[in-house]
Amino acid sequence: MPPAMRGQGVDRGVVAICSVLATIAVLGCTGCFSTNISTMAESEAAVGDDESALWRQSDTMAAALRSHGYLVEEERFAAYLEQISDRLLAADLSTLDETVRVHLARDPALNAMALPNGDIYVMTGLVAQLRTESELAALLGHEIGHIVDRHSLRSYRHARNKLTAANAVVFTLGMGAGAVGGQAAGSVIAGMAGAAGEFWTNVLIAGYSQDFEYAADATGVHMLAATGYDPAASIELFERLLENQKPSATNERPWHSTHPKLRDRIEHARATIDSLESSPVVRTDDETSFAQLVARAHVENARIALAHGDYEETERCLDESAAAGATTRTEAHAAYLRGEVARRRDGEQGFSEATAAYRNAVRLDPAFADAYRELGMLQRSSGRPHDAALALQSYVDLRPDAPDRQLIESYIAVLRR
Ligand SMILES: [Zn+2]
Repeated sequence: MPPAMRGQGVDRGVVAICSVLATIAVLGCTGCFSTNISTMAESEAAVGDDESALWRQSDTMAAALRSHGYLVEEERFAAYLEQISDRLLAADLSTLDETVRVHLARDPALNAMALPNGDIYVMTGLVAQLRTESELAALLGHEIGHIVDRHSLRSYRHARNKLTAANAVVFTLGMGAGAVGGQAAGSVIAGMAGAAGEFWTNVLIAGYSQDFEYAADATGVHMLAATGYDPAASIELFERLLENQKPSATNERPWHSTHPKLRDRIEHARATIDSLESSPVVRTDDETSFAQLVARAHVENARIALAHGDYEETERCLDESAAAGATTRTEAHAAYLRGEVARRRDGEQGFSEATAAYRNAVRLDPAFADAYRELGMLQRSSGRPHDAALALQSYVDLRPDAPDRQLIESYIAVLRR
């Protein structure tokens, strides 16, 4: 099992990512920046040094997120998300289909975000609550709207124009000292954004100004209609957020809902839908692929809950995953996590249950290295040296670059004596 999956691994990732952000330089120079900006549909090239810098910073951030295990990198889900975003872009923005990349992010937040460079992240916390592919398409359409209309650059220039040279540094690099520490059970991005300053907090989590949020909602509605999805899915998406909003979690507001409020956004979206020339809903959702994505999101949420020692929540998420319709590989992850719960929560009493769960995991996915490792370690401590050596050998064979390879090989040598 890689270190990032153990204990508070996700949170350690935040610390490292924040140190990347701490090195981000102050953008641009003082003086007035033009806020008369073309959309990405008109010009894909960066429209100034400041936008080039925003894109470079986004690339740095995207690389940090990937290298810290923030993304669920499984081809099946990447392809499915890309299929939906390409479809949304196909109507008038097909030149952007290389620019826009959608990622499934291991993050319990009810959120999604778009970086200025075209990277979109949909958090497993939100994906798990969606009910249809059309709702997912509405979410992606909104995020694409922020990218196409260059809302980050517009916000950046607008804010810079209001600032004097003296406090510009505070704006771009207002490093929130306590931001990371407060992330025990929260979103990776919330911690990262808090550490990166106000501008990136808006881009990453809080959302943009009221006008930009409404504009992105409208873009999403138009994209749904142009692609044959039911535009009403945008309202259903807001309803999902309303249902799952936790009023007590002050820094975990769902998806850009700080301003404007969700109910106001519903009214605006309804007005946009009413203004559309009636276009037929011709698309049938790919229910199987959608269900598999949701099931995986639940399993990733279970993994995060386990990392925080919340066994009840872990099991609840695993039950949801099973009900959603998981792929065999997702089922293997779920089995592994059930083994982890039994082992960590129940100690020796949980050994036989955990062993059965790990066995189930490797039966479902014979290439599942972590499950072999835990199976072997459990058999090692249950006095079954032969089985233990076999399982641990499978782990090393499947993951020759494992950081604990030397240690495990030393165990195998002793077990075979
Ligand atoms: Zn937004």
